[in-house]
Amino acid sequence: MRVGIPHMGNVYVAIKAMSNRFGGELIVPPVNNQRALSLGVRYSPEGLCIPFKLTLGNLIEAAEMGADVLLTIGGFGICRLGYYTKIQEQILHDLGYNVRMIQLNVSEKKLPGFLQVFKQLSNGASWPTIISAFRFGLTKLNAMDRIERVVQKVRAVEQIKGTANGLFARAIKAIDNADDYDSLKKIQIDYIEQLTQVPKDNQAQPLLVGITGEFYVVLEPFSNLDVESELGKLGVEVRRRTFISEWTKFSLFLNPLGIDETARIHKAAFPYLKRDVGGDGWESVGEKVLHAKEYDGLIHLAPFTCMPEIVAQNIMPSTKESIPVLTILCDEQLAKPGMLTRLEAFVDLLERKRRASNNKR
Ligand code: SF4
Repeated sequence: MRVGIPHMGNVYVAIKAMSNRFGGELIVPPVNNQRALSLGVRYSPEGLCIPFKLTLGNLIEAAEMGADVLLTIGGFGICRLGYYTKIQEQILHDLGYNVRMIQLNVSEKKLPGFLQVFKQLSNGASWPTIISAFRFGLTKLNAMDRIERVVQKVRAVEQIKGTANGLFARAIKAIDNADDYDSLKKIQIDYIEQLTQVPKDNQAQPLLVGITGEFYVVLEPFSNLDVESELGKLGVEVRRRTFISEWTKFSLFLNPLGIDETARIHKAAFPYLKRDVGGDGWESVGEKVLHAKEYDGLIHLAPFTCMPEIVAQNIMPSTKESIPVLTILCDEQLAKPGMLTRLEAFVDLLERKRRASNNKR
């Protein structure tokens, strides 16, 4: 069985680690690029959201590379995600690819469902092997996310722009190549140390901007034109709640430490939105309310035509917890010059706001 996967940020590193451990044959398509987007756009219904189009492009590329089974993400929520697998399967069959789709229903079936799917893909590996593979993949995710949190801070204040991104790219490669826990630990310590040594502007007091919105566009830099790096170049420190390792903790396990971050966010949104509207719309509103005092501003990333985020976008201006929000609609038409102009104007506004409030004090 040759198993192809779609991309979402660096998740492929963890899935590859798992697959290597149980001896699976994994086909990782090229990281997101213009070709994947063009393929996805060409064969998707026009009004569909960008996560559908980009992942379809990845699946087509994986099928071209010889995958006969494709792993997709599904859900039982009230947005289109629940239809992704069926529609993508139909499109792939119409294009002549003889592939079988396997859907990961993570939110519904939690960890047992997740492991069951990998057992199915493993050509008979034992349960201890599957569990140990999962643990190793998770450790890689944790290492990447810990390093990325430091990168977000360094980008804002580094003297030579791009240094932190360069180190991060090297760290991902090293983590991808690591075969055991000891090497992983060393890589994590080493890269965090290198990031702390990067020459910085010690006088800088960077603006703090939160990133919220739909899960896929928040985590896939190609779909948001690498908004976090662009903010870093403008001297802005980015904070985001959405990290795959965090999500795994709260979605796959049944609330291991009794801390329910999602419930806390829903509670914050409650005065303005009392129910799930699909996708991450409820969380987007809650994050604005929860972090209004902490952040200078918020960037809200929403796929074009995404109903849950349209609901959130319309509620955000009317919350009493006031903080500037810039919504960026992500689709194949989003272009860098337009996005940069909007980011620069937003950052300019936040700087003036901060100066005005400092003067008042
Ligand atoms: S949350 Fe929005 S973008 Fe994501 S799958 Fe649902 S409709 Fe599409």
